[in-house]
Amino acid sequence: MAHTRIGPAALAVLGLAFIAFGAAVKTGVIEIHRGGGGTRAADTVAVRTGAGDVEMPAGQANGKSVAPTTAPPTPKELVSDTLVAEAAANDSNAVRPTPDELAQLASDLIIPVVGVEPKDLLDTFDEARGNRRHNALDIPAPRGTPVISATAGKVLRVFSSQAGGLMVYASDPTDRFVLMYAHLDRYANGLADGMPLQRGDTIGFVGTTGNAPPNVPHLHFGIARTSNVGRWWTGMPVDPRPLLRR
Ligand SMILES: [Zn+2]
Repeated sequence: MAHTRIGPAALAVLGLAFIAFGAAVKTGVIEIHRGGGGTRAADTVAVRTGAGDVEMPAGQANGKSVAPTTAPPTPKELVSDTLVAEAAANDSNAVRPTPDELAQLASDLIIPVVGVEPKDLLDTFDEARGNRRHNALDIPAPRGTPVISATAGKVLRVFSSQAGGLMVYASDPTDRFVLMYAHLDRYANGLADGMPLQRGDTIGFVGTTGNAPPNVPHLHFGIARTSNVGRWWTGMPVDPRPLLRR
């Protein structure tokens, strides 16, 4: 069986890390296991959460296969974005997502920046930022590009922090996952805590608030699996990139 590993070089560190400003987003590795004879149907995607690999059939939920892609290189300016998880290994709300949970989430998600396609996504989850790992996906886009809700759910908290700038924490429809959007230029009018969200609702606009490099506007997007979305700053980080197929 062919075994292709797609992932950043820095795989040495395995541990639990958490997002300082709320949610926890764990560095991940994508492994594509190809079935014999190259049958796409047998492909699986493994999402490494730090508590072990979680395998899910590629394209299980939407009936489409996930083509292994090579992410474009990260603009070097992005490494100054040190919005990363704060170590919180004892977070009791961190839950390892099951394959079914990840498949369901993947079937639900859309890329939360208008005009960005799966092939454009950077593999930034494992990158070192400062002395920690990034644990999230950076999606560069022109300043002012609409940031849209990746899934239905609700706004857990409209938040701001020194590193994250203008941020939104939201839950998915199952209340298993917290989605975090950071470095927004501004919020959508009327956005408020507790507001229900439909997938595709505009929640804000791409910017550089917080510690984002001023010349590289981008959305910092994190996902965490938590046992309690009420504690929106907790959870086990999950790499969004292999889950974003449309
Ligand atoms: Zn980032």
